[in-house]
Amino acid sequence: MSVEAIKKSCVGCGACEEVCPGGLIRISGGKAVIDRPELCWGCASCIKECPNGALRLYISPDAGGLGGRLGATQAGEKIKWTAYLADGREVVVVTDSRESNKY
Ligand code: SF4
Ligand code: SF4
Repeated sequence: MSVEAIKKSCVGCGACEEVCPGGLIRISGGKAVIDRPELCWGCASCIKECPNGALRLYISPDAGGLGGRLGATQAGEKIKWTAYLADGREVVVVTDSRESNKY
């Protein structure tokens, strides 16, 4: 799996760097850089923590079409996950972070 950093949306806050369990993200020139994308196992922690929606996780071609991506935004305890499918559709699922270990 791998993550895309959207440079124009990144404010260089470092939240993604801090949360990545594999240490795969670093801040360079005020922007997030995915250092070793081939080692990403798709935990989605970085996209969940990004305050600006600047990270997207590539999803399986079978699920989202080639180039489909998953983004996330948080509002309090609610996390809004948006799958941006290759055909232009957007599919939204909202979860509650207090129940995240339930799924
Ligand atoms: S999805 Fe997980 S492993 Fe991959 S870059 Fe983000 S935090 Fe790191
Ligand atoms: S958490 Fe988001 S805004 Fe902050 S450095 Fe990472 S990609 Fe940029």
